[in-house]
Amino acid sequence: MILIDGKKIAAELREELKQEVSELKAKYNKVPGLTVILIGDMAPSQIYVRNKEKFANEVGLKSEVIRYPETIEEKAVLDKIEELNKDESISGILVQLPLPNHIDKQKVIETILPGKDVDGFHPMNVGNLSSGYESSVPCTPLGCYLMIKKIEPNLSGKKAVMIGRSNLNGKPMAQLLLKENCTVTITHSRTKDLKAECLEADIIVAAVGIPELVKADWVKKDAIVIDVGINKTDKGIVGDVAFDEVSKVAKALTPVPGGVGPMTIACLLKNTIECFKRSLK
Ligand code: NAP
Repeated sequence: MILIDGKKIAAELREELKQEVSELKAKYNKVPGLTVILIGDMAPSQIYVRNKEKFANEVGLKSEVIRYPETIEEKAVLDKIEELNKDESISGILVQLPLPNHIDKQKVIETILPGKDVDGFHPMNVGNLSSGYESSVPCTPLGCYLMIKKIEPNLSGKKAVMIGRSNLNGKPMAQLLLKENCTVTITHSRTKDLKAECLEADIIVAAVGIPELVKADWVKKDAIVIDVGINKTDKGIVGDVAFDEVSKVAKALTPVPGGVGPMTIACLLKNTIECFKRSLK
């Protein structure tokens, strides 16, 4: 079984991005800038944002975190986004989710200029991705896609099963694999026989949020299995895939932690650089 080492692949990707940033700097005398807006003091968000800042600095991006208290008014956030939209030194804007209840997530997403939407959540980017046009792609599915391609460069005709249909994971992941000529099935909580669907799959991407849902007898021998889930349990953080048993049948599997997570952050940096390059066109 191939253990898909997301930490290592992400470190390699960051090294490539660092090189690219230094070339862009030499050519244009400026570097891509990423601004992250963090509202409130939820611990996981604090950790994500700290890591994003650390790695953005490591690859040489101009990076800034704007922190607001939980009580900040929606209008103040939208005004700040408008200001950042106009700032030519900022290539990418990310508003860390989740947001407090009084702030409308959709309004926030739609206020970010599509060209600076490094999360790929703006309807314009969602539409462009599903139409097969150039767009920002949500960071987590992009990271999963890059790992799958490392294992299997030619995905044409492969049967891929997404478990979960969120806008964050399942849906954009399906679009990426469809573009690679996979035959894609998107499953969800109303799917009749999830195990039977999974048993057909050459590629399984599990993004559900149920600890160790995917068992060994759900997985075809030689399938590639990507585990997006992050679940806090009594035995620590586990994914949506029963790692120990599935590792005995799968061809390749991502661990949790150390699989999809590090790639998500590396892909945020990649998206920031892509936004910068598109802004030069
Ligand atoms: P989400 O928005 O809650 O979506 C979960 C999806 O799973 C929904 O489509 C839901 O179906 C489906 N589902 C629920 N129970 C199911 C079942 N029994 N069988 C089949 N499908 C079922 O979750 P998300 O934001 O995509 O996140 C999923 C997981 O990934 C979470 O554990 C999250 O923490 C993790 N995550 C990790 C990263 C990372 O960087 N590693 C990034 C983002 C998220 P319905 O649509 O029918 O409700």
